[in-house]
Amino acid sequence: MTAKIIDGKALATKVRNEVSKAVLELNKKGITPGLATVIVGNDAASSIYVTNKGKSAKEVGIKSLQYSLAESVSENELLKLINELNLNKDVDGILVQLPLPKQINSEVILDSIKPSKDVDGFNIFNAGNIYLNREGVIPCTPLGCLIMLRSIQKSLKGMNAVIIGRSNIVGKPMAQLLLNEDCTVTTVHSKSNNIQRIVKEADIIIAAVGIPNLVKASWVKKGAIVIDVGINRINYKDKTKLVGDVDFKEVQALASYITPVPGGVGPMTIACLLMNTVFQCSRKNNLSLPENLKNLY
Ligand code: NAP
Repeated sequence: MTAKIIDGKALATKVRNEVSKAVLELNKKGITPGLATVIVGNDAASSIYVTNKGKSAKEVGIKSLQYSLAESVSENELLKLINELNLNKDVDGILVQLPLPKQINSEVILDSIKPSKDVDGFNIFNAGNIYLNREGVIPCTPLGCLIMLRSIQKSLKGMNAVIIGRSNIVGKPMAQLLLNEDCTVTTVHSKSNNIQRIVKEADIIIAAVGIPNLVKASWVKKGAIVIDVGINRINYKDKTKLVGDVDFKEVQALASYITPVPGGVGPMTIACLLMNTVFQCSRKNNLSLPENLKNLY
């Protein structure tokens, strides 16, 4: 068996096209969604992410405002900016790129973003909505994974899903989303025993760890669906190469579907950020989410 590839780039293009259509509908009502991105410091990878997010926003007709703060900025100064953005009528979504420097408490910052302008779904209020299976903004990466799964399988009901990793931004919301989809969900992490045995039972594997090529073919049940969230930079033949948490070559021979890195979950994350911005903009203007996007949530 050779797994079929779930093409994140192609699927993300479809999602972005739907977002563009929704933005055009909002434009007809005199509304232009606005996304503010905030980056602190000079981390090269974070700068690339933020630049790409801003560029993608513009491409679908979302107004992009970018704020770049010095590495030494204080928590109070960052809070002041977020407060201004919370009050700014042109801003529907605020994204603060993580990680933040040591002097800043990320939880304080994420909680200071108004829930109605949170496009990452990291705010405590929006995290609670997922937990209670209520409508709300959903963290971009888990939402992207869910859309990928739905693109190959209409119903996930009863499937055995194993999430590797329990971070607040990927693993935990992913587990909750799949529980909401009626999967039987197990989450494993760095302190789990018998990880390989647990993963081997999975119909769906979501790897969100940050260890290159961790998941080997021997961990995977024949026919499993494998979603690789990991983005790891490794040195390969004197160059830097991006690889996931799954040993793609080995696992492709066993799985039924697999996502590549790059070109898998990454592009979906950005597409979902744009969708979340339209979601928040629609809500602010007392409009229901356009039908074409509703189907994707
Ligand atoms: P994180 O906050 O570092 O969390 C990693 C998780 O993996 C933790 O829960 C940790 O367990 C667990 N873990 C560590 N070693 C393990 C092991 N040997 N076996 C099983 N579990 C282990 O990372 P994250 O933010 O969730 O990101 C995970 C990966 O996804 C990274 O490569 C990141 O770059 C990537 N990512 C990609 C996207 C995208 O758009 N594609 C978005 C976000 C993140 P403990 O909780 O016990 O420490």
